Amino acid sequence: MDIRLKNINKVFGNYKALDDVSFEIEKGKLIGLLGPSGSGKTTILRILAGLEYQDSGDVYLDGVLVNELSASRRGIGFVFQSYGLFPYMTVYDNIAYGLKVQKKSKDYIKNRVSELLELVELPGLEKRYPSQLSGGQMQRIAFARALAPNPQLLLLDEPFAAIDAKVRKELRSWLREMITKIGITSIFVTHDQDEAVEVADEIIITNKGRIEQIGTPIELYKNPRTPFVAQFIGQSTVIGEYRKLKGFETLEEGFRAVIRPEFIKVYKYGAQKEHFSVLEEGIVRNAVFRGDCTEVTIEVKGNLLKTIRALDDEGVEIGEKVQLLLSRCYVFDDEKAYSVT
Ligand code: ATP
Repeated sequence: MDIRLKNINKVFGNYKALDDVSFEIEKGKLIGLLGPSGSGKTTILRILAGLEYQDSGDVYLDGVLVNELSASRRGIGFVFQSYGLFPYMTVYDNIAYGLKVQKKSKDYIKNRVSELLELVELPGLEKRYPSQLSGGQMQRIAFARALAPNPQLLLLDEPFAAIDAKVRKELRSWLREMITKIGITSIFVTHDQDEAVEVADEIIITNKGRIEQIGTPIELYKNPRTPFVAQFIGQSTVIGEYRKLKGFETLEEGFRAVIRPEFIKVYKYGAQKEHFSVLEEGIVRNAVFRGDCTEVTIEVKGNLLKTIRALDDEGVEIGEKVQLLLSRCYVFDDEKAYSVT
C-alpha cells in the first residue's frame, strides 16, 4: 500500500517526540527510517500501525484516512527487535497465530505455514520452540509470522539489533531479497547508517522529532540538505572558519562548511611543487588501518579533517607534515543547504 503522513505531532508529557512530520511512500518501496536514538523513529512506526495515536495530523493508507482505525484493521505486519515470538508456542503455532485470529480453516493454515517456512528458508522447523532457534532463525520466523495474514505493509523496528554482527550482515541481504521478491511496502527502523544504505530503496532521516531529508542513499550522500544529513550519511568534517583555508577563501562568510574525505587530496610534503599556491599544510594526527584503506586525520588550521589513503598511496606517519588540496565542500546557511562548490 502507499502511505501518507501529514503534519503529525506527538507530545509525551512535555517532550515533543514528533514535530510536524509529513512524508509519502510509494507502494512496494523498502524504506529505511534512520536517525539517532530518541529522534522519533519508533513513534512514527507505532502511529502508522495504530499502536499509538497522534495528537494532530493525518495518516492515509492507500489514500484512505485511517486515524480512527484500530491496529488490527489496518492490514499491517510488525516485526520487533526482540523477535516478539511467543516462547511457549511452537514455530507452527507462532506463525499460525494471526491466521487463527482470522478464523482461517485448519487446511489453509497448514498450507500457509509450510509455504511461509519455505519462503524464509527454514522448512521442517514447525515443532521447534523459540528457545531451540538461533537469533537469526528466530528473526526469520518472526518475519514469517508477520507475513502470514498477508499484510499490505510491513513495519520492522530494528529487526537486526539483537543479532550478532556476522549473522546481521547475512540477514540484511536476505531481508532485502525477500521483501523485493514479495513486493510488499516495508519500513524498517535503524540507527545504523550502513544498514540503511545497504538495505533501503529510500531513507527517511529523522532528527529531534523532525524529518531532515528523504532520498535514495546516493541522493542523500551527494546532496545533503542539512549539516546533520551530511554528517549522518558518510564521513565528513564540519569546518568553522573555512575562509582561512586555501581553496575556500572566496566562499561567503556566515555559512557552515562540511567536507568529505574524498574532497581532500593528501601529498607528502614538497611532492606537489606546481600546485604550491593552492596547497594547504597540515599535520597528520591519526592514522587507522581499515584493511582496504587507511583513515587519516589531519590537523589544518585548527580543524581535524578526516580523509582516506588508498593502499597504493604512499603511507603517512602520525606527526608528519603534509600538503593538501581541498577540492570541494558543502556549505550550509544555518540548517539549509546553500550551495555546493
Ligand atoms: P531509539 O532508536 O532509541 O529507539 P527512536 O528514534 O525510536 O529511538 P522513539 O522511541 O520514537 O525514538 O522516542 C522518541 C522520544 O519520545 C524519546 O525521547 C522517548 O523517550 C519519548 N517517548 C517515546 N515513547 C514514550 C512514552 N510512551 N512515554 C513517554 N515518552 C516516550
